[in-house]
Amino acid sequence: MYCNYCGKCIQDDANVCAYCGTRVGGVIARKRLVRPREGRKIAGVCLGMAEYFDLDVTLVRVVWLITALMTGVGFIAYIIAWIVMPEEPYLLTSQAQAPAGQQPVTHP
Ligand SMILES: [Zn+2]
Repeated sequence: MYCNYCGKCIQDDANVCAYCGTRVGGVIARKRLVRPREGRKIAGVCLGMAEYFDLDVTLVRVVWLITALMTGVGFIAYIIAWIVMPEEPYLLTSQAQAPAGQQPVTHP
């Protein structure tokens, strides 16, 4: 496959472009508005917005910060987005389920 940003050929299962560092993996997953676990500054709200709308994360942060400082609405909006936006799900479901019945339940 090819990187959408720099156009160089990269391996098919790559998550990050080896040339420009742009995230290319999980494009389908990025259609959901989530807070990415990597690269976040505070809660990942701005990063999630940037990836969802395909914008520069720095631009989103600057605009959000200016809005917050000028109007104060940005702070409230950030808190709301923090609560509302789900965290990015782990790609690898490594959480093995504990075997049932391993620990005997004793009733008093
Ligand atoms: Zn690239």
